[in-house]
Amino acid sequence: MEELLEREIILELKSKFFDLISTGRFSFSSSEVLSQMMAILKELLKAHEVDFYSCQEWNQEMYLETTTRLSSDDRVLETFPHCLVNELAAKPYAFIKYPESMPEHELLLVLKANEKPMGLFGFQMNSDTLNSLSDRFLDKLSSECNVFIEKVRSQAETLEEEKRYKQLFRVTKKFHSTMDMDAVLGEIISTLREVYPSFTYYLLLSHDHKGYGGLPVRDLEYDSDNLTAMQSYVSGQIQFEDSVIDKNSIMYAPLKGKQGVYGVLQVIAPNSLVFPQNEVEFIKLLANTAGSALENAKLYEQSRKLIADLQLINETSHQLNTSLRLTDTMKFICGQIIKSFNAQEVGFIMLDEEHDDYSVLKGSTSFFFSKDASNYILRVANQIRQGMEPLFLGDISDDREDSPLHFHSIMGVPMIQSGELKGFALVMHEDPYHFAFDTFKLLQSLIHHSTLAFTNSMLREELEKMVVTDHLTKLYSRGYLDEKMNLSMLEDQQGTFILIDIDNFKSVNDQYGHQIGDEVLIQLARQIANNIRGTDIGARWGGEELAIYLPGAPLETGVMIANRLVDKVEKNTNPNVTVSCGVSTWIRGQEDTTKTVFKRADQALYVAKGSGKNKVVVQNENNFDFSGTQE
Ligand code: GH3
Ligand code: MG
Ligand code: MG
Repeated sequence: MEELLEREIILELKSKFFDLISTGRFSFSSSEVLSQMMAILKELLKAHEVDFYSCQEWNQEMYLETTTRLSSDDRVLETFPHCLVNELAAKPYAFIKYPESMPEHELLLVLKANEKPMGLFGFQMNSDTLNSLSDRFLDKLSSECNVFIEKVRSQAETLEEEKRYKQLFRVTKKFHSTMDMDAVLGEIISTLREVYPSFTYYLLLSHDHKGYGGLPVRDLEYDSDNLTAMQSYVSGQIQFEDSVIDKNSIMYAPLKGKQGVYGVLQVIAPNSLVFPQNEVEFIKLLANTAGSALENAKLYEQSRKLIADLQLINETSHQLNTSLRLTDTMKFICGQIIKSFNAQEVGFIMLDEEHDDYSVLKGSTSFFFSKDASNYILRVANQIRQGMEPLFLGDISDDREDSPLHFHSIMGVPMIQSGELKGFALVMHEDPYHFAFDTFKLLQSLIHHSTLAFTNSMLREELEKMVVTDHLTKLYSRGYLDEKMNLSMLEDQQGTFILIDIDNFKSVNDQYGHQIGDEVLIQLARQIANNIRGTDIGARWGGEELAIYLPGAPLETGVMIANRLVDKVEKNTNPNVTVSCGVSTWIRGQEDTTKTVFKRADQALYVAKGSGKNKVVVQNENNFDFSGTQE
């Protein structure tokens, strides 16, 4: 063919190629451009059919990408042996006429990039037409095709990349607008599904986090036989795995933040497709962004938890330092632990090391006062006594099948003061592994902070009791009775007072000794305690004289109690003694004081002593009344 004509053909080709791009009839999808290109080539070279074979970068195999032969849906995938690739690579020209390894084609136009074949056009055409074309023309033709394809591909790539980075930008923006880990993970998965819909995704996560709301999450630790995933997690590097059996290839991208790796993104590509470099880059970027977002969300969660923990400790310390009663304090702390740790039972057990015994502090949950509790208490007490170390049990079980344990998660934290084990806190839940280790550490800190306040509070209450209690008789002290009676005379409508004195007590002491005398006094005190109610006050008045004050009670009640006491003492003391009682009363509206009430009772008692003893004498209106006496 004449040179001029050939040049004209080339010019026409270029102009048609240019039209392809400039008219914008296609959206830069390579296959669409290719088929248009091939239609142009077919027409210009008067070929029967044109095929385009693409060379896969990773295995250097060629496959039929587009053809004019068949309709596009029943396109046959054909691969070609390496020898062809080598044959092509060795050729000085970019075309082969009558190729031996592909005899169904008369002409092959080779497309090269960086000296490597990246594809070829195969033409079925009339030999005469082919023979009329000069080598220079064919060379030029292939180079024009090459240039054009290159251009189209790079533009398509740029567009595709732009689209992805727009997505990545959108995702990143979303990541940074939320502190919710689940939302972050959900966004990663939905973006990937949008970009690569044919792939399968899993998030392999390392930390124990619950309820991912339908996300494809797998536990990295439980999946630890997945060595490649583990390797990616540990090294923080992308890893690949091709499975011949499953016909797929898998990519592992670590979800990496600044401080560590939070999991691995597993991407499974079906049909043994190897990940092209820019997909890898994109997934890697996405995984890194997700890693940072996860890290932020996690740090935020941690800091929020830390604040909550500090608030708990602060609130508790504050409460402990206000002068609440011990029981109220205990109730408060148990409530805090139940609320903050999601516990079911909370108990404070004080140990009595001397007697190898324990007591449950009031304010502990009611379970600890039941019979079943001792099983848990003794178990934990034994272990804590041995090491003075806190106990964190995820799933305790009992050998005895007849009484299976109800609570499986147990935390026991010793209360140690001045190196001495005072007791321990016991926190339980029925579900195994219910408490997180963080919770356990927080409980330790809480108990550590409160032990001093507890023991102080307990000491104070003991001391207070000591002050108001008479050591020998265990009745209230005289001071306490005075105080309560003064209070009653301010608040109540009336009240009755009984003064009790043992008859001829000197002779008991003389006959049996002072110690037996004391015991008689204790016996009398016990009779008093048994004959009055909780709101009444039995007290030691002084020496061998005891007293009872009945707040709100009328005279008759006092006389009845006094008579009953006189009666019981006479029958139930050993060595046998009798008592005499003086009873006085006050009513609102009449001017009266504790002093005069005492005085009237004392005077009545004096009368009782002077009139035969072992009897009750009541004050009369003008001081004395002998009507209530008893022989
Ligand atoms: P009366 O029937 O008149 O009350 O004769 P009494 O012997 O009881 O005489 P009084 O009440 O005056 O004497 C009190 C005696 O009680 C004096 C003292 O030895 C004895 N006493 C006082 N306090 C105690 C005590 O705490 N323990 C013992 N064992 N004896 C006491
Ligand atoms: Mg006396
Ligand atoms: Mg006496």
